[in-house]
Amino acid sequence: MALRVEHDIFVVRQRGREVAMAVGLEHQDQVRLATALSEVARDLLHAVGGADVIFAVDLDAQGPPQVRVDLAPVSPLPDGRYEPHSGAVARLVDMLGVVDREGDTVVRMSRRVPATAQALTPERLAELRAELASSAPGSALDELASQNEQLIAALDEVRSQRDELAVLNEELQETNRGVMALYNQLTEELEETNRGVVALYAELDEKSAQLRTASESKSRFLANVSHELRAPVTAIIGLSRLLADSASDPLTEEQAQQVGLIRSSATDLLSLVNELLDLAKAESGRLEPNWAEVDLRAVFGQLRGTLRALSTRPKVELVVEDPPPPGTVRSDEVLLAQVLRNLLHNGLKFTERGEVRMRAEVRDERWHLSVTDTGAGIAPELHERIFEEFYQVPGSTRIGGTGLGLPYARRVVRLLGGTLELTSEPGRGSTFTVTLPIGGG
Ligand code: ADP
Repeated sequence: MALRVEHDIFVVRQRGREVAMAVGLEHQDQVRLATALSEVARDLLHAVGGADVIFAVDLDAQGPPQVRVDLAPVSPLPDGRYEPHSGAVARLVDMLGVVDREGDTVVRMSRRVPATAQALTPERLAELRAELASSAPGSALDELASQNEQLIAALDEVRSQRDELAVLNEELQETNRGVMALYNQLTEELEETNRGVVALYAELDEKSAQLRTASESKSRFLANVSHELRAPVTAIIGLSRLLADSASDPLTEEQAQQVGLIRSSATDLLSLVNELLDLAKAESGRLEPNWAEVDLRAVFGQLRGTLRALSTRPKVELVVEDPPPPGTVRSDEVLLAQVLRNLLHNGLKFTERGEVRMRAEVRDERWHLSVTDTGAGIAPELHERIFEEFYQVPGSTRIGGTGLGLPYARRVVRLLGGTLELTSEPGRGSTFTVTLPIGGG
């Protein structure tokens, strides 16, 4: 087609649309191609006085076919370049630009034919060419009418898009209201949960108060019972001693043995009662340390003397080292001696051979009083358990005892402002360490 006068723009546009329709572009794309073509045609007519227009279809073995329009300008383009007056024009087609065609500069635009279109064989193309050639180009008026129709269709489309947008907007608002409702509901539930947690805490407080009272009652009960038991048990011991006394009537051998059993059972009972009483006192907070400057050398010396009598095993040596200077600590002498005696006693009880050693040293302004033995040791998972009331390591019960010594000792040491800790390697022995501030608790 030749593009030479204003009227040709309409014809080129119309032909463009017909070609686009013939090769199978969708309606929207037909209008797009035709619009782009009429814009470029107008530009070229005004800039260089016209062009020769060729419609072609490129059959590409790899990709989809392309419908292509080449506009060869009648005189050279300024600077050999072409730029549509509006950037939007380029977006109407897949490609728009200047190309070199066998030495001539042409403006080319192209658009992919959709895969859904009827296959474009060379025979089909020949058919289309014949059809297009036989149809006479319409008048400018015809093209104007069809352009009008297209405009109305476009307007319709815009309106339906606007309606769709309104619907979407409505849906969005709906969703928004839903989200708000959900948010409110969640907030309410959260508040509800919060109130539940608060109530739970109140209950917890109440329960722990109840527990505290129960524990106090238990201590009081223990103290009362052991106190009440002490007098009769002491009497039993005294009476059995009297019975066995050489000044009393002689007993048969069997009787003497039975009285001996009564006495040793009563003695065991008395030590249990005493330990219970001590523990109950310490638990109830009624144990008041008698603070004074304690001479550790004296305490150690006394323990060395009294415990030697207890170490009956020939293969176990009891070693009590002299504490280094200053040798004093602010504490309660009786309670401290009771704790150390307890630890030494345990050491002697649970050691078959080797030694039980007590030593003192000052580190970081604190006394570290340790009792180390070469006994069976204690498994790591039991290091805390042995400080629980009545707990005894399984197997060690045959040695006797009550399981009250260590919990009592720990309470007393805390009362004195210190700590009682254990380090032990099973099979190698244990070390119990009392740590006390030099200046008292
Ligand atoms: P008791 O000695 O009257 O049984 P304790 O409270 O003093 O009660 O000790 C609790 C348990 O800890 C003991 O029964 C024993 O199993 C273990 N134990 C304490 N001291 C030692 C030690 N020096 N070596 C090994 N085990 C020990």
